[in-house]
Amino acid sequence: MTRCLISPFHLSKDVVYCRSVYHILFAEGAAAVDRVILHCDLNSFYASVELLSRPELRELPVAVCGDPASRKGIILAKNEPAKACGVKTAETIWQARRKCPDLVLLPPHHDLYREFSHLVNAIYGQYTDLVEPFGIDESWLDITGSMHLFGGDAAAIADELRRRVRGELGLTLSVGVSFNKVFAKLGSDYRKPDATTVISRENWREIVWPLPVGSILFAGPAAQKALAQYGIRTLGQLAAADLGLVEGLLGKMGRQLWRCANGLDDAPVRPQHEKEPVKSVGNSSTFPDNLTTRDQVRRGAARLCDSVAARLRQQGLYCRAVQVGLRDPSFHNISRQKHLGHSTHLMRELLEAAMELIDGLWRPPSPIRLISVTALDLTDTRETYEQTDLFAPDQPALDERRERLEQAVDNLRAKYGRQIISFGEGTAGPLSHEGGEEEPPELKKP
Ligand SMILES: [Mg+2]
Repeated sequence: MTRCLISPFHLSKDVVYCRSVYHILFAEGAAAVDRVILHCDLNSFYASVELLSRPELRELPVAVCGDPASRKGIILAKNEPAKACGVKTAETIWQARRKCPDLVLLPPHHDLYREFSHLVNAIYGQYTDLVEPFGIDESWLDITGSMHLFGGDAAAIADELRRRVRGELGLTLSVGVSFNKVFAKLGSDYRKPDATTVISRENWREIVWPLPVGSILFAGPAAQKALAQYGIRTLGQLAAADLGLVEGLLGKMGRQLWRCANGLDDAPVRPQHEKEPVKSVGNSSTFPDNLTTRDQVRRGAARLCDSVAARLRQQGLYCRAVQVGLRDPSFHNISRQKHLGHSTHLMRELLEAAMELIDGLWRPPSPIRLISVTALDLTDTRETYEQTDLFAPDQPALDERRERLEQAVDNLRAKYGRQIISFGEGTAGPLSHEGGEEEPPELKKP
């Protein structure tokens, strides 16, 4: 430890009793040495990206919305002039148009937003390796260890980030600078668009305590209502409240809120690559009536493959191996796995592999009580069959058709619910007469 960042107001009650700096640094560690955290929030992100290619609309009220042709479409984002008319995110186009008859509606371009999000985070990444994206348009940056390389002034770094993102990408952002994540986020909300707000050890009570409890990210309406019954409406009132009372009202979450209101949030900034990758996606079903025919087993397996494939697609993953497990009524388990020679997230291919494994493991009518299907050896890239595979010359075209079909099924289900459509294998409804209960899906981490 070469630098000592301790000043009297950094010391918590526990620390003042320590006898030496050594104790303070090493016994209290992170609590005594302040972190420097930025929260960067792109302003009206979707609308701002859209306006890059439509500068003539810049001064008009503009909103990006789900389906401009539908009265039921919802506002996804709006620019400042639309905000000034009272247009709100998540209200219907119809509601927005009532307040703002001249509102210009634009359809969303999600690929473009992802691209810009990636570019912005790449700029942040030039200042620290501790960048934690939160949604598509917000990120926390922990610059404690790197800020000395950029002049050592956190507010100046925040201003530089704003200048660079505006100059290089044409987008504005608000930045909050503070000693913890919650206050950094409050800071980026405090003044916008295109502003830097510093919430320091010196001014945090002045800035944070008058804010309503709901300004903290995870203080939802139910928590706000419960606290309001005790006259706790601002963060200052929450900070002054008895911890036991708040914990009694809201449990663990109450403790967390109370700590945040008192400036004690110590959650780390977690870089994206630290998030553990999913190792397998699996699902199992226990059947109250044992399965004894191949048809019953195939329908059971189909439903499991359907849910596993849908979850792979949801997460942008493909598997290169499939594992099947069977349990008989005396709880005897057997399982086998198979490599596929390519990667897939298609229900049909999982089912073919699963049935091949089941046929090798089981002879009807010996009874089956449980089936599990697990997708293994996951990857985020799609690998097709070897081009040299003479036995499957039409496979790429078939894959493509299946891909489109299953994508269409995902879209229908997203719109109308899972029951709306099946693959003709009894995959949509409950497991017909077997009445099988699907177990909660599992996502395995290493
Ligand atoms: Mg934003």
